[in-house]
Amino acid sequence: MSADAVVIGAGVSGLTTAVCLAEAGMRVRVDTDRPPGATTSAAAGAMWDPYLAEPSDVVERWSRETLSELVALGVDKDTGIRIVEGTQESRIPCAMPTWSGLVGGRLCAPEDLRRGFVAGWRYRAPLVDMPRYLHYLARRLAEEGSSIRSHRYGAVEEAMREAPVVVNCSGTGARALVDDPSVEAVRGQLVVVENPGIESFFCDGTPDADELTYIYPHARTVVLGGTSDRGNWDLSPDEEAAHRIIARCVAVEPSLSGARILEQRVGLRPARTRIRLAEEHHGGGLLVHNYGHGGAGLTLSWGCAREVAERIRRVLTATA
Ligand SMILES: Cc1cc2nc3c(=O)[nH]c(=O)nc-3n(C[C@H](O)[C@H](O)[C@H](O)COP(=O)(O)OP(=O)(O)OC[C@H]3O[C@@H](n4cnc5c(N)ncnc54)[C@H](O)[C@@H]3O)c2cc1C
Repeated sequence: MSADAVVIGAGVSGLTTAVCLAEAGMRVRVDTDRPPGATTSAAAGAMWDPYLAEPSDVVERWSRETLSELVALGVDKDTGIRIVEGTQESRIPCAMPTWSGLVGGRLCAPEDLRRGFVAGWRYRAPLVDMPRYLHYLARRLAEEGSSIRSHRYGAVEEAMREAPVVVNCSGTGARALVDDPSVEAVRGQLVVVENPGIESFFCDGTPDADELTYIYPHARTVVLGGTSDRGNWDLSPDEEAAHRIIARCVAVEPSLSGARILEQRVGLRPARTRIRLAEEHHGGGLLVHNYGHGGAGLTLSWGCAREVAERIRRVLTATA
């Protein structure tokens, strides 16, 4: 098919952007060197949580827009989205994050905190089974007549020959694709275990904690996290890190002790000092970047995708 727009990347940024463009009437093709199930997005936990992403003013807006979309989509069980209640707790006194108001955050009473924690707040937020959600987005895209093609680009110029509009949603791949050394991998590892009956999520929100600890209960499984290693591009699971993740999670939730391990997941968060969402004229075409979402690619996905679609609409209208 000849496309009006090519989206590079089939992670949550690429697929959401492609859905927005296709549903706005464009003929869209997604070109990707990895299928959706093998992306960083598929490895994510994943909760709506604006973590490790800048700049804060736009992150706040994009996360708010995404939150309302994920809540609406959560009504359909096939999306893999559920609205789950849980707590974020800290081992030192600290204030609720600025975004707590968006998710109805309320302070925990001291007797409701887990052992070793002195502050905490309770809220409800979307918890997403990412492999299932990416599958849902791909299906929604196919319903618009759009396709996903397996293809690796050596340089963005090659993609510009494929369609008049190209959107670059290549995550950490942007470092090579558009020669952007400011993109860094922040490696994350998770362990997926059988769910012993946990229904609420837990997240250690201690400021500047050395290691991440979180427990995300899906229906039959629980995702245990995590790690955050800047500059580490290794995609193979580290057994020692997995043991430490399990030990930290069991310490806060003893019912996890002995839970059967089902899977380990590793992904590379695409970190950048600022998310790059910007358009540029490239040759005779339009190139729009949408990458660098760090630890919040799901959390920002709909806000960013809609902004990309709106920017393309404005440029195409102005040049028509
Ligand atoms: C362990 C872990 C837990 C996380 N938890 C959360 C969470 O709870 N909430 C949250 O919001 N975020 C979370 N994140 C962060 C989130 O996963 C990322 O921000 C998000 O996946 C980035 O999505 P993306 O689509 O931009 O990139 P990716 O998912 O990495 O997709 C990039 C795509 O570009 C393609 N590509 C790259 N280069 C090329 C090329 N040259 N040619 C063709 N295709 C190319 C790739 O094949 C891939 O399809 C987590 C991340 C990790 C690792």
